[in-house]
Amino acid sequence: MSSLLFQTVLRKSTVQQSRLYLVRFMASQAPRPRATPPSPPPNLVPPPASRNMKVRYNRKQAIRLLMIISVCVGVGTLLDQLLTSDLQRRAAKVLSDKGLTEGTSTTQLSSLESPEYANASATAEAYAELTTLLGKENVSATVDDIASHADSAWISHHAAAGQAPGIVVFPQSTEEVSQILKVCHKHKVPIVPFSGGTSLEGHFIQTRNGVTIDFRRMASVLTLHEEDLDVVVQPGMGWENLNEYLKPHGLFFPPDPGPGAEIGGMIGTGCSGTNAARYGTMREWVLSLTVVLADGTIVKTRQRPRKSSAGYNLTNLIIGSEGTLGVVTEATLKLAVLPQSTSIAVATFPTIGQASKTAQDLVRQGVPVGAVELLDKEMMQCVNQAGQTTRTWREEPSLFLKFGGTKSGVKEQIGQTKAIAKQNGSNSFVFASSEAECTELWEARKEALWSTLAMGADEGMTCWTTDVAVPVSRLAEVVTSTREDMDKSGIKGTIVGHVGDGNFHAFILYNDANKSVAEGVVHRLVERAIEMEGTCTGEHGVGMVKRPYLQSELGEATIDTMRRVKMALDPLRLLNPDKVISIDPKEVMHKLD
Ligand SMILES: Cc1cc2nc3c(=O)[nH]c(=O)nc-3n(C[C@H](O)[C@H](O)[C@H](O)COP(=O)(O)OP(=O)(O)OC[C@H]3O[C@@H](n4cnc5c(N)ncnc54)[C@H](O)[C@@H]3O)c2cc1C
Repeated sequence: MSSLLFQTVLRKSTVQQSRLYLVRFMASQAPRPRATPPSPPPNLVPPPASRNMKVRYNRKQAIRLLMIISVCVGVGTLLDQLLTSDLQRRAAKVLSDKGLTEGTSTTQLSSLESPEYANASATAEAYAELTTLLGKENVSATVDDIASHADSAWISHHAAAGQAPGIVVFPQSTEEVSQILKVCHKHKVPIVPFSGGTSLEGHFIQTRNGVTIDFRRMASVLTLHEEDLDVVVQPGMGWENLNEYLKPHGLFFPPDPGPGAEIGGMIGTGCSGTNAARYGTMREWVLSLTVVLADGTIVKTRQRPRKSSAGYNLTNLIIGSEGTLGVVTEATLKLAVLPQSTSIAVATFPTIGQASKTAQDLVRQGVPVGAVELLDKEMMQCVNQAGQTTRTWREEPSLFLKFGGTKSGVKEQIGQTKAIAKQNGSNSFVFASSEAECTELWEARKEALWSTLAMGADEGMTCWTTDVAVPVSRLAEVVTSTREDMDKSGIKGTIVGHVGDGNFHAFILYNDANKSVAEGVVHRLVERAIEMEGTCTGEHGVGMVKRPYLQSELGEATIDTMRRVKMALDPLRLLNPDKVISIDPKEVMHKLD
């Protein structure tokens, strides 16, 4: 932009100067005013003829002058036009490099050039600077560190050959993260933030190589405000560790995604979990964030009060942005009071439709259950086969329910739930009467994904984990038709869902021989959910896999608006490239591995 400014000034001064030269030139050609001659003596007054000659001479000069003026004006105008169109072209290029088309509100992918990242020598220079900045012990390029930050066994889209971080860095403070981003910005090195690494849609794949920032050395509770029910933590704090820390204070943090997930990544994906039916998602539990922007600027999104209507909601812009808009280095989280009493129940049903309808009715009748989780018949078979739980389960569609509140409140909730399940044809209903029984009953739910992965591994298959959400009234329909589709297509897989909020997952097993059949099942599942005014992802996020579906869910103009936000905050496209939205018109998307 500064070069544009320079060009504009240059252009203005060039035109002004050429005009100045023109005026000076014209002035040099015009008859110069002479010093007033002394009055001739009366007998030397010139005759009339000589006066006529002088008039003719002035007219000739005037014509010559006019011709010169017109030529000069013509040349000036031409020069002006040439400079103007060149500048307009340059200005348009500067704007388009930044994804900004003059006068528009959105950025279309086709208006962008491909991003330009550091070449090998600039990358090496950046890595050397980062090593000096952080110390050798906080920078790693070991085979293990590179591999564990490049891919994972549970993601549905694996890294292509060569897609791996160049180095992994382990900062210890917000200031260090800011310095890292400044170095990367200077050299145009891509950056991928990494917390627990449990995300499922290829979120942390290093599509452009570069630096992966791991937050394991920023994993502390900074301040607990017990009276205000909030806590300030660093991004590497795991949600399970946080709850261990909070328990003696009678408090807890409700969002509960995959085991091992950490606050930075939970903010990144806008996660939820089993508790969302009662408590809502990550978006409802974050008060404020400290974020480092792509150029290293540190911003705090808001202060600590429970409510605020001050300005744009930057906190929620960052939640769910998957590390593409900024890097979170501190989070102030709301806390809930641990319920006095809790219990777990399991109800089984002849069909998946009846189980889903029960979840729908619980929501509609306002029963304040803590969680309503659906596991289909195949999932229950899988859990039994894996043998990781202490009991053997009925192999039928099952609802796993959590209750919390006062003792009498929990008793009342269990009674209401049992009645609704019965109305929907449940054929068994058990509930826990001790903490040990609660743990035992919840085990099957906890083991769901691992059991499916184990079954897949036994049979040489990969697991594709996908999630959608629909308005609760459409839940039974979408779950039933997905199960039918899987059976008809001959695809092995299980269904498990946080059905209390209309969200469920399909774990689809496939191998090379039936990969395209599996793709078809996932595609139809997502399209079905979108047709029902649902979403292509209820909680796992977009990553790389769901990008095309985001477009069919929200439409081009919405995606182009998101791209404008991305280009405004990260014009060099350094932060977690190729996630959520496409940023490179020439990107070749590789197929599912
Ligand atoms: C067995 C299992 C069960 C699961 N169950 C659930 C569930 O019930 N609900 C649910 O929502 N999810 C679930 N997940 C998915 C996963 O746990 C969540 O997506 C979780 O939020 C990811 O957190 P993470 O710390 O592992 O993030 P990561 O995988 O490390 O990162 C996720 C994204 O956040 C970005 N990111 C990481 N750190 C930062 C930071 N400091 N600043 C900015 N961006 C950052 C990354 O770049 C990436 O795009 C499950 C996963 C597994 C394996």
